[in-house]
Amino acid sequence: MGEEREIIAVNVELGCDERCEDCERFFECESEKKWEIYHRRRMALARERLKNIRWKIAVASGKGGVGKSTVTANLAIGFALKGYKVGVLDHDFDGASIPTLLGTRGKRLTLGENGINPVKGLKDIAIVSTGLLPQGEEVLTWFHDMRRNATEEFLADVNWGKLDILLIDLPPGTSSDAVNLLQYIPDLDTVVVVTVPSELSQNVARKSILLARKAGAHVAGIVENMSGAICPHCKNVVDFLQKGGGEKIARELGVPLLERIPMEVEVSKASDEGIPVVFKYPESEAAKRYMDLVEKLEEILKKGAA
Ligand code: ADP
Repeated sequence: MGEEREIIAVNVELGCDERCEDCERFFECESEKKWEIYHRRRMALARERLKNIRWKIAVASGKGGVGKSTVTANLAIGFALKGYKVGVLDHDFDGASIPTLLGTRGKRLTLGENGINPVKGLKDIAIVSTGLLPQGEEVLTWFHDMRRNATEEFLADVNWGKLDILLIDLPPGTSSDAVNLLQYIPDLDTVVVVTVPSELSQNVARKSILLARKAGAHVAGIVENMSGAICPHCKNVVDFLQKGGGEKIARELGVPLLERIPMEVEVSKASDEGIPVVFKYPESEAAKRYMDLVEKLEEILKKGAA
């Protein structure tokens, strides 16, 4: 019997089976064959749909619950307040919270002559989410191909119309849904990564940045959310989740720390009412930080991030 050794990565060890979309080395692979996935009918349709969108921004995080969707919703309103035409693709299939955050819970996507019509929310923001499907309140038990199909459908069959900005709320972590999206939109303009200051969150946020880089996407930087908590009574700041986590990872990976957003009761209150804090409580500290983030991203996009 020959010598045995540990398998490092299945596809790498066993050779290429030419199933590019499922390949763990898709982003590193230099084979021309991998580009064939973009020639499939649906991908061609997706390209056609997305060509009317000027900028595409993905919002990612390592862990769930760090405030990624809240950042997405506030960016959407923030850009809309500046006069941009905005769409939001809620790609967090299992944790779809954009409909709640943007006040469209209970509304439904419809099918028109020109494909799926997004639901219109506050400030005319076009929203597509699994939470706007009839089974939106149920637990989704989709697996591999169904999830990929859903991504393809949201990209190829949605009638987004002409948009200035499409914000994509990615699922937390580096799951296949996040990878699919990065594969299908090779021309993302930039990625924003949200973390909280704790070490645990930083370590997984790092993986999101590495995945975005591997996919060749531009990373605008890190948003440190829950960066200190503002006491609703005395307005003093308390560092419940330690300090400086976002800064540390930004330094380590050579990306900017874009913003520090405090934990503030107005943020969650406004979110639960379906009116993001930048609209509901523009004078709050968090709202000012979200708007500052909008300004910074606008500058990056205008300069041409990708
Ligand atoms: P994720 O998308 O990362 O899972 P969410 O955006 O859904 O996280 O936020 C999780 C919870 O934390 C929500 O209830 C939200 O209202 C609250 N939250 C997020 N950011 C803040 C903040 N800066 N201050 C107060 N509450 C926040």
